[in-house]
Amino acid sequence: MEDVNKNSNLYHKIYEGGRITPEEALELFSWDIIELGNAGDMRRKLAFPGETVGFIIDRIINFTNICEAACAFCAFHARANLIEPYEVTMDDIYLKIEELMAAGGTQVMLQGGLHPDYTLNTYIDMVTSIKKRFPEIYLHSFSPSEIVHISRKSSVPIDDVVKALKSAGIDSTPGASDLLVERIRNKVSPKKTTVDEWREVMRALYRNDMMSSATMTYGMGETDEEKIAHLKVIRDIQDETGILQAFIPWSFSPAKTRMEDTLPATGIDYLKILAIARIFLDNITHIQAGWLTEGLKLAQVALTMGANDMGGVLMEEVVVKATGIKTKTNDKQLIHIIQNAGKIPVQRDSRYQAIKEYA
Ligand code: SF4
Repeated sequence: MEDVNKNSNLYHKIYEGGRITPEEALELFSWDIIELGNAGDMRRKLAFPGETVGFIIDRIINFTNICEAACAFCAFHARANLIEPYEVTMDDIYLKIEELMAAGGTQVMLQGGLHPDYTLNTYIDMVTSIKKRFPEIYLHSFSPSEIVHISRKSSVPIDDVVKALKSAGIDSTPGASDLLVERIRNKVSPKKTTVDEWREVMRALYRNDMMSSATMTYGMGETDEEKIAHLKVIRDIQDETGILQAFIPWSFSPAKTRMEDTLPATGIDYLKILAIARIFLDNITHIQAGWLTEGLKLAQVALTMGANDMGGVLMEEVVVKATGIKTKTNDKQLIHIIQNAGKIPVQRDSRYQAIKEYA
């Protein structure tokens, strides 16, 4: 790692709050990690002043693992032969939501495999039944890949799928982005959405007045240039739409996938990408620390290098767990981690509004 030249144009640009170019972002990979973290934290203060850190009590319901995409980087889908094929019944979904509400939870993420027999009506029926029973639950559900899958299966334009899901009761969608680089997508998930389709979903959400988020799954053999290319797709779509409430980087967990020979990304890789993302994505307010894949202790460090949110407690997440990751958490633990980092925990809702502050 190089000593940072504090007289350089790039250093001044960052500390003056300017927009950096992709080439400049690339240069940051060679910065000393502490200097980079300090710059990430400074930009966090510009985007999100104060010392509060949000978290949400939510539950992911992975309603089926039957998936016709069978991506190489996924250990969750049934054809990976680690989890028996399953489909959750509506009664099971109701029970899971009741448990969430009893724990003070406010948000459900419905996410599943790309089931070959599911059509628009399957999703509409699921959402309508949930909202009828639990009108107060916020549904942050269905990834861009699921929306494109529904569009293909039912021969309905993406815009109309989004419209129909919204009127059934979906409140917002997670922008599960993987890596928005065609070379990598062709290698690890050729049957999933293309980069252009991801953009198309984001534009459809914007036209239908719906919010989303963006993620990044890295460590799949991409170059640093490709990492920045991913961030550029996200920054551009945010300039165009303004619908991305948060950005969440995750490192890829190769164990148990068809890519298990890939060396896992390290803690330094994670902190670098987090801080660079905070600096480069000058138009996104919330950057979440990924405790699920990085562990609670590294996520805590991320709060000092650009992150301002711990995301959800994710009751019952199955997709990442399928790779053998065992990290779990709850609200008490997140409150402790945040306070121990010298910050103020705030339980928030899905729109990042405070529900309760733990001074
Ligand atoms: S990542 Fe998603 S689309 Fe790909 S195989 Fe897993 S469940 Fe299916």
